[in-house]
Amino acid sequence: MESNNDRQQRLRSLPGVDRLLAQTDKDPFFKTIPKPLTTRVIRGVLEDLRSAIMAKDPSAHEDALTETKVIERVCTQLQKALEPNLKPLVNATGIVVHTNLGRSLLAEAARENVARMAGAYSNLEFDLEKSARGSRYTAVEGLICEISGAEAAMAVNNNAGAVLLCLDTIASSRQVIVSRGELVEIGGSFRIPDVMAKSGARLREVGTTNRTHPRDYEQAICDETGLLLKVHTSNFAVVGFTASVSLTDLVALGRKYRLPVMEDLGSGTFVDFSRYGLMKEPTVQESVATGIDVVTFSGDKLLGGPQAGIIAGKRELIDAVKKNPLTRALRIDKMTLAALEATLRLYRNESEAVRSIPTLRMLTRPLVDISADAEDLARQLQRIDDPRLSVELADRTSRAGGGSLPLLDLPTKSVDVHIQGVSVNTLERHMRNNRPPIIGRIESDRFVMDPRTIQSGEFSIIENALSQLLKRV
Ligand SMILES: *Cc1c(COP(=O)(O)O)cnc(C)c1O
Repeated sequence: MESNNDRQQRLRSLPGVDRLLAQTDKDPFFKTIPKPLTTRVIRGVLEDLRSAIMAKDPSAHEDALTETKVIERVCTQLQKALEPNLKPLVNATGIVVHTNLGRSLLAEAARENVARMAGAYSNLEFDLEKSARGSRYTAVEGLICEISGAEAAMAVNNNAGAVLLCLDTIASSRQVIVSRGELVEIGGSFRIPDVMAKSGARLREVGTTNRTHPRDYEQAICDETGLLLKVHTSNFAVVGFTASVSLTDLVALGRKYRLPVMEDLGSGTFVDFSRYGLMKEPTVQESVATGIDVVTFSGDKLLGGPQAGIIAGKRELIDAVKKNPLTRALRIDKMTLAALEATLRLYRNESEAVRSIPTLRMLTRPLVDISADAEDLARQLQRIDDPRLSVELADRTSRAGGGSLPLLDLPTKSVDVHIQGVSVNTLERHMRNNRPPIIGRIESDRFVMDPRTIQSGEFSIIENALSQLLKRV
């Protein structure tokens, strides 16, 4: 049993801040580091050690409290503090639109445009012809209309913001009718009923989870009704005995009762994926073609652009949204706008878009290409030549992710790694802590990597990470 006395003694034996600072002053490693940072890290390390001693944590044993050991800890912590917090990583999960890993990679044209616009003044809100104040939406409005067929359009911070803005503009303090089958929650706690509450609109649920009919909407319509809303059930599917009201029918109902109709498309796409052998996902063009008043969708899901929320629809409505004071709070940034404009331009030629927008390219990659990559990666890993390492190819599935194409299993060929004497959890942790981190998944006791989302040039990162681990274990 450890006595109070022992603890007191160990607390006292900890070197003081001044003393440690004096030591670090002599060390060339610390020369380049701002002193306030060093001081802050020293204080943090001492604080951690004190807490560890008080908590009887075995890591705070006597040998760990010497000046040398404490300075070693300070060095490690400083190195961490000097590394960027936001860093690139290898996405080997096979989930193309992975929200936790940054959703979409920008096309080269978009990246170049961001770099160009970030360091220059621009006509962001300046009309060069009239020499007067302009609108920042000009950069993308015409393009969105051209591609989607909408009368007017704008872009805001994200689709959650777009939905909030539209509800607030169209239906604040009025009733919004939504099918019970469409009251979705998207990851990160975006729930249609909650967003509705924030906008001041009142939710009127109709139908049941699996079946909603036109008469359900019709019976609910009253003087209080301000909007008919359809939400794309982008991250789940109701299968079996189901019925929902088509957008066309909903738009007809809206006409009949003189009510605006809105659709939250979520992952909105301009490309009909069924043309590429994938599952059908409703396109923005189809939604607009029904004569709908307004449709909103994300910029960084299936569109493959930057984080943004796009609002397209009838001119009168879009003008009202532009004038809503809340719009300012959800304003799109100029770098995002630069990325979005360049991405949209690529859609003028669909095959060009599919080739050059990484999200589209990864989703539509033929299995033979992925298999060839899997074989290349496996061969490269086998070069490590360690008898404990086993590398196998397996038939698995990738996912679109980002709450899109929920039922779609994309066939893929994965590279599965197993190291004799090393648990798969240890292997996964090592890969995750690599610089840059490599994120894969664990399946059938293997570390599984899906080449669908691994970018060119990243195979050697994986090879190095594995050979380093094999040298250590
Ligand atoms: C993803 C999604 C949202 C939120 O979009 P963000 O761009 O992530 O804000 C809203 N509605 C639906 C149906 C979605 O799928």
